[in-house]
Amino acid sequence: MAEAAITSKQAVDEGVAAPEAGGAETIRGLTYPLGPAPAPGEAVEAARGVLWLRLPLPMALDHINIYAIADGDGWTVVDTGLLTEISIKGWEDALAGPLGGKPVKRVICTHMHPDHIGLAGWLCERSDAPLLMSRLEYVTARMLVIDRGPAPKEGEVFFRAAGWDEARLQKYRDDFGRFGSAVSPMPQSYTRLSEGDEITIDEDVWTIVVGSGHSPEHVCLWRKSDDVFISGDQILPRISSNISVWPTEPEQDPLADWLTSLDRLRGLLPETTFVLPAHGEPFYGVTTRIDALIRGHQVSLTRLERVLKTPSRAIDVFGSLFARPIGDGVLGMATGESIAHLNYLAGQGRARRERDADGVDWWTATSMETSA
Ligand SMILES: [Zn+2]
Repeated sequence: MAEAAITSKQAVDEGVAAPEAGGAETIRGLTYPLGPAPAPGEAVEAARGVLWLRLPLPMALDHINIYAIADGDGWTVVDTGLLTEISIKGWEDALAGPLGGKPVKRVICTHMHPDHIGLAGWLCERSDAPLLMSRLEYVTARMLVIDRGPAPKEGEVFFRAAGWDEARLQKYRDDFGRFGSAVSPMPQSYTRLSEGDEITIDEDVWTIVVGSGHSPEHVCLWRKSDDVFISGDQILPRISSNISVWPTEPEQDPLADWLTSLDRLRGLLPETTFVLPAHGEPFYGVTTRIDALIRGHQVSLTRLERVLKTPSRAIDVFGSLFARPIGDGVLGMATGESIAHLNYLAGQGRARRERDADGVDWWTATSMETSA
């Protein structure tokens, strides 16, 4: 489950418009007004009272954004980075530097993936600050941190069904239980955030907006007074968030949850919203971006349906979903994302699955059966 973490698909090459005055640039209908991202330990004021910080990640997705919101004589921070020495150094430098030595008063995590909660415990401990999360994200994180193996047989059944060979299954067994190693010990209590909650930071009211699909109960923060929206991984500008099925709940349909969430956000957020995402740069153009994300999945589903004219395993359909080859490092996420799209088609009656005597699932488009 360790790979449940991260966003996957890198967007294909984007046409870059010439930078405008002040460093703003417009790419594919999204405007990035802030110029270069801050280096680790530095900060850029993203919106009134909100500092944008960035910490490195040791993977293809090489960074996460942190937001520090001025909160009286201290800060409320949103997301925390992975448990690594370089992230801890980034936090120490930021706290002593742009955060002015003032205390962290609250730690909010948008969701339970290790790049978001990795240093939550460390930061809460260091600052004697409470942790604020949604309930499903908190309890899922607590579960995964202690889930150190051995690898469950349900996981082997799941990945064998997807088409993994014995060598890959062995690697799954060997690698199982790494989630906890990327996360500092979690606080043993927390404050629950729920859809529609309002929290006051300084004089400002921030409304909690919950999405689902990338993770079970993902929290976003919306300052309606000037439409600043801290989106976590729920809306990302340059890559699409990983939507995966995992062995714990093999029949899940997270893509339906994801598309429903995006549709709702599309109706909720005004076009003037300034989106502060966890990856990539803060941007304007939320409706354009949500439309592109939804369209991307619809195009993938149509392509996938076409591929399923020939009975296929989950690992056979990567080409219809991903722009680049899938290496071993992202195999788990790619498999999970393939199954998410297959389960979605099944939920719509557009595909069905048959398990053979070796425990391998073969998927076929139902339209092929009726119209052939
Ligand atoms: Zn995530």
